[in-house]
Amino acid sequence: MPAFSLEPAQVARCAQLRALAAERLRPLAEKGEPGRVNRPLVAELGRLGLLPRLFTTGAVDLCLMRESLAYACTEAETALALQGLGAHPVHAHGTPAQRRHWLPRVADGTAIAAFALSEPGAGSDAAALSLAAERDGSDGWRLTGEKCWISNAPEADFYTVFARTTPQAGARGVTAFLVPADRAGLTGSALDMLSPHPVGALRFDGVPVTADDVLGEPDRGFRVAMGTLDLFRPSVGAFAVGMAQAALDATLAHTARRDAFDGKLSDLQAVAHQVAEMALRTEAARLMVHAAAAAYDSGAPDVPKRAAMAKLCATETAQYVVDAAVQLHGARALCRGHLLEHLYREVRAPRIYEGASEVQRGIIARELYAEHAALEAR
Ligand SMILES: Cc1cc2nc3c(=O)[nH]c(=O)nc-3n(C[C@H](O)[C@H](O)[C@H](O)COP(=O)(O)OP(=O)(O)OC[C@H]3O[C@@H](n4cnc5c(N)ncnc54)[C@H](O)[C@@H]3O)c2cc1C
Repeated sequence: MPAFSLEPAQVARCAQLRALAAERLRPLAEKGEPGRVNRPLVAELGRLGLLPRLFTTGAVDLCLMRESLAYACTEAETALALQGLGAHPVHAHGTPAQRRHWLPRVADGTAIAAFALSEPGAGSDAAALSLAAERDGSDGWRLTGEKCWISNAPEADFYTVFARTTPQAGARGVTAFLVPADRAGLTGSALDMLSPHPVGALRFDGVPVTADDVLGEPDRGFRVAMGTLDLFRPSVGAFAVGMAQAALDATLAHTARRDAFDGKLSDLQAVAHQVAEMALRTEAARLMVHAAAAAYDSGAPDVPKRAAMAKLCATETAQYVVDAAVQLHGARALCRGHLLEHLYREVRAPRIYEGASEVQRGIIARELYAEHAALEAR
């Protein structure tokens, strides 16, 4: 599939998803409690057949789902994405027993998933994580330490947890574990964040895990984390593009009807040019997201670079577009409950999570220099 165009069937599916999000998901999202997992919303995502697609289609489909849902209901979008982020390591690296037990429940929305990588002392520098997995008998470990800023914590039903099995080994000494929320010694608390979805901290007090709980291989867990982020980073970009498009469309409607200076706001060239710039940047970001997702699906060698570029470009663009939309709406955009007031709160965190913008620049530069060195060595 060329990166720059969608099939008519994909365009139709996106329109159908936006309508579903507005009609079936938005009302459930509005009934949710801020900062709490909205289980009826997740169950509806399962009933609509959207959650199972996380495991049956590729990155392009994931991006189209995220963009379309974000356009009409960011809460539904994020609920879907978090099921994918938490469960992808199980889908890609789980044992048959782990997959059999958890994936059907994630897909029908009865089990809530979470991805627990960040710690108080290891955010951008994730390879410095220190949650200790200490040997306990020949077949097990005990997990001791903390995770923080974990979406869906502490209400998730299971966590993909990245823990240090080999001290001082950096990225090479990390193991991924599937930890059910009811394991002895695991507790958590909610954090009150400028982010509409639930985020919390986890405390591990000698939590027992065995070889049956490992995802992939011991000491190879960092690859599980990075492989998951390669898939999800472009789709964070898709989330951002959906928000930018919603802000742009609201701005077109508002500036076309708002009376000012004996005409409409859109008659002012400064306003019209600002709207044109918002549209230009949104479309550029969308193309970059589609290109990165298509590269992932085709197994292209430059996925980490493209994923980082897409996430960086789209999340920074969405911040610009939503901010400009607020400006062109004036005071009404800042009223609690206005679409733009909601988007203004939603748009900030994606520039930080799954790798801050500066971290994405670091990945892009590292990949560029590696490509350059490979060319020089020929
Ligand atoms: C709403 C929300 C949800 C989240 N959900 C999850 C989740 O589900 N699971 C999970 O594991 N984590 C989650 N996180 C955590 C997130 O991944 C981290 O916040 C992120 O990786 C940054 O880590 P930090 O906050 O510790 O910032 P730090 O690592 O302390 O960095 C602070 C700032 O320093 C700058 N900086 C850092 N490194 C570099 C660099 N190499 N070069 C230049 N500048 C740099 C950047 O400006 C960065 O924002 C979430 C965060 C938020 C806000």
